[in-house]
Amino acid sequence: MAETMKAIVGGHVIDPATGTDGPASVLIQGDRIIALGDVPLPDGAEIIDAAGCVVAPGLIDVHVHLRVPGFEHKETIESGTAAAAAGGFTTVFCMPNTKPALDSVETLRALNMATAARGLVRVRPIATITRGRAGEDPVDFAALAAEGAVGFSDDGDTTADSAIMRLALEASRDLGLPVMVHCEDKALARGAMHEGAVSRRLGVPGIPSEAEEIIIARDIMLARLTGGWLHVCHVSIGRGAALVRAAKTEGVNVTAEVMPHHLVMTDEWVGGDRTLVNTIEPAGAPCLPGDPDTKVNPPLRPESDAVALLRALQEGVLDLVSTDHAPHAHHEKHGLPYEKAAFGLSGSEFAVPTMLALVRAGHITLPEVILRLSTIPAKLWRLDAGTLAPGSLADITIIDPNQRWVVSPDSLKSLSKNTPLMGMTMTGKVKMTLVGGEERYRD
Ligand SMILES: [Zn+2]
Repeated sequence: MAETMKAIVGGHVIDPATGTDGPASVLIQGDRIIALGDVPLPDGAEIIDAAGCVVAPGLIDVHVHLRVPGFEHKETIESGTAAAAAGGFTTVFCMPNTKPALDSVETLRALNMATAARGLVRVRPIATITRGRAGEDPVDFAALAAEGAVGFSDDGDTTADSAIMRLALEASRDLGLPVMVHCEDKALARGAMHEGAVSRRLGVPGIPSEAEEIIIARDIMLARLTGGWLHVCHVSIGRGAALVRAAKTEGVNVTAEVMPHHLVMTDEWVGGDRTLVNTIEPAGAPCLPGDPDTKVNPPLRPESDAVALLRALQEGVLDLVSTDHAPHAHHEKHGLPYEKAAFGLSGSEFAVPTMLALVRAGHITLPEVILRLSTIPAKLWRLDAGTLAPGSLADITIIDPNQRWVVSPDSLKSLSKNTPLMGMTMTGKVKMTLVGGEERYRD
C-alpha cells in the first residue's frame, strides 16, 4: 500500500529558499514533500486546511536548554520538545550545560538515543568546549563531531582561557562546526541585571554591557587568528552587534544570533514596566519591581540596545533568531531575592508571536522572519531542512498570524513557566507543526 498522502491547502506559503510567497498547496507523501504550488490534489489525500494561515518550513532553534540529562525537574525530553513543537520548531539544538555535561561520546550517544526515541521534534546536541565545562581541559572535538555534535559551547560560561578558545576555534576550522560562545567576562559580570539607571534605582547589582563587549571582541580576534567559525550566542548589546558587523566586513568567519526577548524587552521590565519596545502592541499591566521572571543572562538591556539589535537583524549582521529557551522550576526563580534567582526565560513558545509583533510594527517582513528562523540556520548548518522544495523532509509549521491568546501556565507545554509575559495577550499562534510529515502539535 502506498504511503498516506497529505495536502496542506488554502494557506499562504512562505518559503524564502524557493522564493515562494503566496497562495499554494503543499503535498506530502510519507516523510517528504512531493509537490509545492498550484497542484492537483490526489484522491484520498488527507486534507489539512490552512485557510488564513501562513505555511512555512519548520522553524529551527539553534539555542535551547533541554536540561537533559540531570535537570529533569526543569524540563524533560517530552516537555521540552512539546514546547518546541508548540512554538513551531521542528529542529532544536540543545546546549550542553547538563549533568553530566555533554562532554563525552558516551553521554552524547545516550542523549541522541533518548531524543530520537522520545522527542517530538528533531534534537541535535551541542557538545562542550571543555570537560565538565570547567574551562580547563578541552574535549575531543573530532570524536564528539563524529557522534553528531553540531557545535561546541560552554554556554552559561565563557571559556576564560584564550589558549583553549584558540584550540577550539582551530578544531572548528578543521571540522566545519561552530564554536558557539557565551560572551561574558565573569569577573565583571557578578550582578543580576543590566548595570544602568534602573539597576541603580532598584539597588540591584548590575552587569555592565562591557562584560559582554570585551569577550565578543576577544573571540572575534581569535576567530580571525584561526579561521575558525565563531557563532556569537545571544548578542544583547548594540556595541556587540557593531563588533560583529566590523568583523564580517573584515572577512572574519563569524555568525551571530539574537533572542526575541532582547528585541522587545528592556531593563525597565525589571522595574515592573512591561512595555514591548520596537512594537505597537499594548503594554502589559505593570508588575511589582524585581519579578524574577525578568532575570536572564545576558540581561535585558536599555531600549537603545533593543533598537540597535533590531537594526543589525534587519541588515543581516545578526544572522538568525533563536530563543535561549531556559526553563527553571518555580522554586529556583521565586521566593528568593532577585540576586539569588536563577537566570533564564522560557522561550520556545514566544518566538513566533514576538517576531510577528515586529512584523506588525513594520520593522521586518514575514519572509524575513522565516529566513532568520528557518532558512538561514538550515543553510549555515547544512541541514536537510529549512525549505518546502519538493524532495525535502516534510518539516512544516502552520501559523495563524492573527490569532490572539493569553499567556497562562496552562497555555504552555514547557514544564517551566518562567516568562515575564505571563498574563499578557499575544497575537500569532502556531496551529500545527509537522515533523517528517507527522503531526507533532495541533492547536
Ligand atoms: Zn548563554
